Amino acid sequence: MDFTIPEEIEILRRSLRKFIEKEVLPMEEKADFDPDEGVPQELLKKVRIRSHDLGFWGIDMPEQYGGGGLNTMGTVIMREEVSKYFSSLTQSIFGGPEGPSKILLAGTEAQIQKYLVPVVKGEQSCCFALTEPNAGSDAASIETSAVRDGDEWVINGLKHFITNGPYADYAIVFAVTDREKRARGGITCFIVEKGTPGLSTGKIQRTMGGGDSQCELIFEDCRVPHENVLGEVGMGFIAAMTFLGGGRLNIAAGAVGMTEKLLKASVEYAKQRVQFGKPIATRQAIQWMLADIATELYAARNMVYHTAWRIDQGEMMVKEIAMSKLYATELVNRAADVAVQVHGGMGYMKELPIERVYRGVRALRIVEGTSEIQRFIIARSLLQE
Ligand SMILES: Cc1cc2nc3c(=O)[nH]c(=O)nc-3n(C[C@H](O)[C@H](O)[C@H](O)COP(=O)(O)OP(=O)(O)OC[C@H]3O[C@@H](n4cnc5c(N)ncnc54)[C@H](O)[C@@H]3O)c2cc1C
Repeated sequence: MDFTIPEEIEILRRSLRKFIEKEVLPMEEKADFDPDEGVPQELLKKVRIRSHDLGFWGIDMPEQYGGGGLNTMGTVIMREEVSKYFSSLTQSIFGGPEGPSKILLAGTEAQIQKYLVPVVKGEQSCCFALTEPNAGSDAASIETSAVRDGDEWVINGLKHFITNGPYADYAIVFAVTDREKRARGGITCFIVEKGTPGLSTGKIQRTMGGGDSQCELIFEDCRVPHENVLGEVGMGFIAAMTFLGGGRLNIAAGAVGMTEKLLKASVEYAKQRVQFGKPIATRQAIQWMLADIATELYAARNMVYHTAWRIDQGEMMVKEIAMSKLYATELVNRAADVAVQVHGGMGYMKELPIERVYRGVRALRIVEGTSEIQRFIIARSLLQE
């Protein structure tokens, strides 16, 4: 196995850094907003469109739909790189659930042109609406229902914690169409446009990480045409699980990038902070914390890269994706904790970005399948082998 990162990926990485350092960070500094209150949507859109112009937004989407056609290995390296900046605007360079969604590739050519292409261009955004108050980890137990009425489907139910829900141009919504079958063919995926009668946003759900991106979506006799069924009727659960599986490796890659940045910041601080007449970096208690994070970072990065490389060889990597997400997201939480500890009181102050990162990374152990669910996937694979 060749561990060399291809030259074209290195070139891409350099141009990504240039974009961030020359354009995105200065824009963020100039705008001077409080990320805990929410990042201004117009700024996020500006970064998104510029990112598309430079070929970053939609980088892993098929070229025929305006994407960059980048493979998994290249994609994880880009996701890792972008996470090394403790910035709120860089989230709009590649995007999360609001961005180009591979789930839409299951749609008809007309759906792809109408819904996917504008998102790949950065002109529109979407959201992924699966979770409900009574159905989180156990997604197959969703209660939102869709009943066919002639050429339409009537959707009723409540989704919550939906990222970009307040701003999305359309939602990718999962609803029960056959109560008996559920995960085995009874859940269907629908595209529901903003402004469709019967769809409204409920309360904004403020988070520990700050911002105003999560909200409830309420469906009250919301009618969508049959042509807005995404994929086949009854195949929505499989589509949702496939989508989440793909996103998990990107989350792991982002966690690796953040861990590297947290470690670097901690090493730098430990070298220059003097107490009892010596830099704290000379103390074994500090060194061991840093050494442990560095060791685990090495392991996590290799897990992510190797998994990505094997996906590009055409292998199914369900277990390894779960392992990578579990390990890297747990690690970045430990790294953030160590960073606060090494920085002492300064690590806890809002003057430095460390405390915000500490709060933000906590979500990574929950979103797109909690750590416990990753362990469940790993164990299930072991028992089936
Ligand atoms: C910031 C943020 C953004 C989000 N964005 C979206 C979004 O855009 N779209 C969307 O659809 N959802 C979104 N979610 C929801 C997210 O996917 C769920 O929160 C997650 O799947 C967990 O579900 P839950 O919160 O209902 O927790 P629960 O499922 O109730 O879990 C509670 C605890 O029980 C544990 N647990 C559950 N089942 C088991 C089991 N069988 N064995 C052992 N332990 C178990 C869990 O691991 C967890 O520790 C978001 C959540 C957050 C925090």
